[in-house]
Amino acid sequence: MCTPMNTKETFHTRFTVKESGCWEWNGRTAKNGYASFSFNKKIEYAHRMSYRFHIGDIPDGLLVCHSCDNRKCVNPSHLFLGTHKDNLLDMKSKGRSLRGDSSHKSKLTDMQIFEIMEANEFGVSMKQLSLLYDVDMNYLYQVKRGEKREGWRKRCLKKFMPESKGLS
Ligand SMILES: [Zn+2]
Repeated sequence: MCTPMNTKETFHTRFTVKESGCWEWNGRTAKNGYASFSFNKKIEYAHRMSYRFHIGDIPDGLLVCHSCDNRKCVNPSHLFLGTHKDNLLDMKSKGRSLRGDSSHKSKLTDMQIFEIMEANEFGVSMKQLSLLYDVDMNYLYQVKRGEKREGWRKRCLKKFMPESKGLS
């Protein structure tokens, strides 16, 4: 896809360079903490846009990860390609709880369901996800088949990308 120059110029007015070297996004932030950028009526994560602008295409199925752990950062030199699995394992190894502050027995949030299903679509097995999120694997399959937690995808998209149009 070819990106018009003005999109890139707009992009470059939306962040502040921090002492840490991070280019911290001043624009909209998605519910999960990632910077987001709207263009052509679509919403894209700003760090992914930055990667495309400065480095190149993102191969299918790969994520753009942060070496600085700052989800609002769009500095291309702080970005690297990884798989969903790499990213989840990286988060876990840094001691970040994938269930947030919620107690062991509490239900997953819609957002966590969203992350899990997205990761599964990108090839992380339900078994791995059930371990990472400390949740029953059968439950995840039921959610995937639409037998449990109906409407989670719609609720998430509404919450975290309120202006999104082309997403279903
Ligand atoms: Zn950074």
